[in-house]
Amino acid sequence: MYKACFFLLLECMLETENVDIIICGGGCSSMLLLFHLQQYPAFNSLKIVVIEKELKPQPKTWCFWHKGNHPLQHLITSSWNNIQFGSKQFITTQAINPYTYSSIKGEDFFDYFLDQFIPQHSNITIIKDEVIQIEKTSPQLSKVICKNGNYSSNTVYSSIIGKEFQAAPIFLWQHFKGWHIKTEDSIFDEHIMTIMDFSCSLPNSFDFVYILPYSKNEALIEITAFSTQIWEETDYLNQLNAFISNKLDGAAYQICATEQGKIPMAYFNHSTLGKAGETLIGTASGKIKASSGYGFEKMRIEAAILASNYFSKKPLKNNAPKRFKFYDKLLLKIILENPEEAVGIFGKLFKKIPIPQILKFLYEETSLYEEALIFKKLPAIPFIKRIFN
Ligand SMILES: Cc1cc2nc3c(=O)[nH]c(=O)nc-3n(C[C@H](O)[C@H](O)[C@H](O)COP(=O)(O)OP(=O)(O)OC[C@H]3O[C@@H](n4cnc5c(N)ncnc54)[C@H](O)[C@@H]3O)c2cc1C
Repeated sequence: MYKACFFLLLECMLETENVDIIICGGGCSSMLLLFHLQQYPAFNSLKIVVIEKELKPQPKTWCFWHKGNHPLQHLITSSWNNIQFGSKQFITTQAINPYTYSSIKGEDFFDYFLDQFIPQHSNITIIKDEVIQIEKTSPQLSKVICKNGNYSSNTVYSSIIGKEFQAAPIFLWQHFKGWHIKTEDSIFDEHIMTIMDFSCSLPNSFDFVYILPYSKNEALIEITAFSTQIWEETDYLNQLNAFISNKLDGAAYQICATEQGKIPMAYFNHSTLGKAGETLIGTASGKIKASSGYGFEKMRIEAAILASNYFSKKPLKNNAPKRFKFYDKLLLKIILENPEEAVGIFGKLFKKIPIPQILKFLYEETSLYEEALIFKKLPAIPFIKRIFN
């Protein structure tokens, strides 16, 4: 009797639930997709399931640049209108008009989506489960098989990264550790963020310091490196201490919080569709720029396009110009093979090209003519060498 009930329960649990949209993974790109889908009136009639294995957001700070007000303006906690770049030879500080550089705290982002946005929409269900496999069951229908249940839909989005990612022909980690510090004295200019400071970088290494000053005596100071191997804990600590004693005159400070992470910087031909025809989103669809590690705004724009395509029933198209992938590939190769040469190239880039133009280039919004003007100012040999090997 008990055994029969158990199997009945198991069968019920494993029964396939049919919904309008399945979103595999409940991270950044999935929340951005929900945000943009919700802007269409027909959204409320859709039954949506988000399957996330953790439901424990990582403490991240997302930074990005944007023109004018941002659709998630209410989540932005800090913004800067000036950017500084530093090397061992020079420092430049520039206004970045028409852009603003902004940051959103991961906690604020997930608090908003998990505690406000999703509870306000009874058509969205978050399920804590692990996706095992996605299968095509008919030309229209896909089935998402999870540890504790199955779901089927004719629209599946997935932010789950496949194994092919780390087998990419060119693969680096952008890895970092940062301290949110409070200093006794007022030593920061809260209007200027530092995008890269190579002045204390190690020999034969591509590492720099990134600073987000929140007020005159509060900042996030992060040591960031691009390499195939993640550093030991002491490597980050040594570099953070070296920077603070050399560049901040050994200011007295206390650490309020730490942030640590790694971002895959992979060059390969990302597909927009997974093996079962599911639409890939976020990192899985290659939205993290291989040569910079930035992905937030690209993912948000992708989410806006996917939402519009969903309601207009338009098929997905990958319109991104291929030449930007080619530039990323060359730059990643230079960083991998000769990090010091790469540091020199970044130095030349920031010395000779206005920062707003660099930001436009990194968002892949420049024209071929503008790119020619940028490359004209950079040493040609490191790039030419990597085209042919
Ligand atoms: C520490 C850190 C800081 C970053 N900072 C910036 C920044 O400042 N600016 C910027 O532009 N970009 C930044 N990025 C890059 C990028 O914006 C983020 O990585 C972003 O979170 C990527 O979103 P995503 O949806 O692709 O992946 P995620 O946010 O990682 O979401 C994927 C989700 O899928 C879930 N999942 C995985 N496997 C399964 C499974 N089998 N079943 C169910 N769920 C599963 C995971 O638990 C995760 O929640 C940062 C990345 C990191 C790691």
